[in-house]
Amino acid sequence: MAAPILAVKDLRVAYGKVEALHGLNIVVPAGRIVTVIGPNGAGKSTMLNALAGALVPNASATGAVLLDGVDVGGYPVEGRVARGMSLVPESRDLFTTMSVEDNLLLGAYTRYKRGEKDYAAQLDDVYALFPRLRERRAQAAGTMSGGERQMVALGRALMARPTLLMLDEPSLGLAPLIVKEIFRVIVRLKETGVGILLVEQNARAALQAADYAYVLETGGVVLEGAAADLANDPNVIATYLGLN
Ligand code: ATP
Repeated sequence: MAAPILAVKDLRVAYGKVEALHGLNIVVPAGRIVTVIGPNGAGKSTMLNALAGALVPNASATGAVLLDGVDVGGYPVEGRVARGMSLVPESRDLFTTMSVEDNLLLGAYTRYKRGEKDYAAQLDDVYALFPRLRERRAQAAGTMSGGERQMVALGRALMARPTLLMLDEPSLGLAPLIVKEIFRVIVRLKETGVGILLVEQNARAALQAADYAYVLETGGVVLEGAAADLANDPNVIATYLGLN
């Protein structure tokens, strides 16, 4: 098994006095896709926000978040990005009046702050993954289709040269063909050695792409295992795969 790029130990998150995550243990090896599936309200977004250091002001988190062996639990968002963690939020959060290319360049902000000034190679890599973004590089991001906006959000995260990429519902609201395209890129990314933590409502697509999976329900992991095994588990089929 490859070395873990992310190890989460006993992560507890509370909103005020209400605990939303009850001690989560999750591992993401380098070059693997690990997915977390579960129903609405299970705590998937809470987990990603806590890992990224982006919890809302009244929320608190305890436990260890080891990124490449270093506990970044006390780091602000930027410090985590600088150490290799990138989150693509569900909302995609693009600057809609700015061009596609300027949105991508914003992803290199932490590298810029460290004094790096040359992003051409990384930009080329992103355009190689998403040729459509090269064609549309000067177009305002807000005028792109839903699938293209997801590509910009993914590309922007890659501009930071992450070692751990966290994806919140990348397939949300996208047509099946576009979902296929996005997942094809996610699998290609893992082949470059990036560790990927994938949160999805589309359990079927997630289990197909992932190596390992956790099922999260009401703030706790109720099942985990090889993604292929979970895809054949009668409970998982009945609860998460039966209807789609
Ligand atoms: P969804 O897929 O619907 O986004 P989820 O699995 O991501 O669901 P979370 O959004 O993480 O689940 O929610 C987990 C629990 O924490 C829920 O009970 C939710 O009501 C609660 N929660 C989430 N955000 C807040 C907040 N800002 N303040 C208080 N409670 C919150």
